[in-house]
Amino acid sequence: MSGFDRAERRGRILRAAVQQELLDPEAAVLAGFIDLDGVHETVTSLRGAFPDPLPVLHAFAAKANCLVPVLEELRVSGMGCEVASAGELARALEAGFAPERIVFDSPAKTRAELARALGLGIAVNVDSFQELARLDGMWATARSDSRIGVRVNPQVGAGSITAMSTATATSKFGIPLEDEGNRERLLRAYRDRPWLTRVHAHVGSQGCPPGLMVRGVARAVEFAEEVNDHLGRRQVTGIDIGGGLPVDFTGDQTGPGFDTYVDHLREHAPALFSGAYEIITEFGRSVMAKNGFIAAYVEYTKTVGGRPIAITHAGAQVATRTVFAPEAWPLRVEAHDADGRPKRSRAVAQDIAGPCCFGGDLLARDRTLPLLHEGDLVVVPDTGAYYFSTHFHYNSLPEPAVHGARIDADGRVTFRLLRPARAAHPFPAGY
Ligand SMILES: *Cc1c(COP(=O)(O)O)cnc(C)c1O
Repeated sequence: MSGFDRAERRGRILRAAVQQELLDPEAAVLAGFIDLDGVHETVTSLRGAFPDPLPVLHAFAAKANCLVPVLEELRVSGMGCEVASAGELARALEAGFAPERIVFDSPAKTRAELARALGLGIAVNVDSFQELARLDGMWATARSDSRIGVRVNPQVGAGSITAMSTATATSKFGIPLEDEGNRERLLRAYRDRPWLTRVHAHVGSQGCPPGLMVRGVARAVEFAEEVNDHLGRRQVTGIDIGGGLPVDFTGDQTGPGFDTYVDHLREHAPALFSGAYEIITEFGRSVMAKNGFIAAYVEYTKTVGGRPIAITHAGAQVATRTVFAPEAWPLRVEAHDADGRPKRSRAVAQDIAGPCCFGGDLLARDRTLPLLHEGDLVVVPDTGAYYFSTHFHYNSLPEPAVHGARIDADGRVTFRLLRPARAAHPFPAGY
């Protein structure tokens, strides 16, 4: 562990990557980096936020970064894994997670996927009454160790990004608690199925203020208590509070922090901490976002209609959400010279474009930065979550390599390949 702060580590990793030719203006024009010391630090702060004697499973949301070596790092740091498809499940198993540390959520689980999960003993959160009926048939024949929960929609409303909000009145996720008749129907469902032992809620991702998330979790906890009171036995023994803690993309500060979130939960949902429940969490973005960055060379620059534009190798293929929904997903961009040193020249407004063949392929518009030149490097911080697991194959652009980095006390950086660059289509021999 190095003792350097996050921004200092980013700079050291970048310069070492240039020296070690992981970034090269001909051979490696774009690459992703994961600060593995940062990942470890973040997981430590997450685990530390929940007091020790409480039984807690922190299941990392695999969709946020599904590279198998990253999942392995998280497993070794003490996390479990949340998956939402057969593909993510395959990656979690390959990364070595024990089945009892995997949680399977998805609104569209097939019969085969459910059967596999039950066969392996993976926890399942049921998303609908229809899925529950399917499970009835399977449960009758399978003897499974899987813990089964119901995902409830606490219907507390949307955050600032509609597409990321999952607890609206009409969300596609979970069983809405407040719809006419549902509460009674759910209470009967728990009464008739002693194997339903968990309650799950995930209020949404990025854009949901912690207050909204806390209200959603509090309603799920109240519902768990209601089930147990109603049945006169402690049937619900686990509460899965989902993920969704927002990340501050404006600077190197961490945002609300796991500690603050847990303080709010203690205040508004004290029963969660009574010791009667195993707590399951499913954080994704808040674990990984700030521990990764993209670096890309500036291939050309031009001035168009009076505005300087830098054409880089990072665009919609690696920053899809940012390019298509720039208001919801703004990212910082840093200007560096070819050696990876921060540029200090006077800042001017410029567009930072990607390589894709459409006009809107811009990482940033009218951004004030030291003027970029051919051969410079741009760094896009805070891209450790989602950006490396959701490549967009536009223009058959390759998936960039992703390198993990560790820094020793003397500042020496060692890299480990987490994902090789992968062409969308292999080039013919001799190309
Ligand atoms: C996406 C998702 C998460 C993770 O959300 P983050 O905002 O990345 O923390 C957790 N649980 C479920 C069910 C999800 O869909």
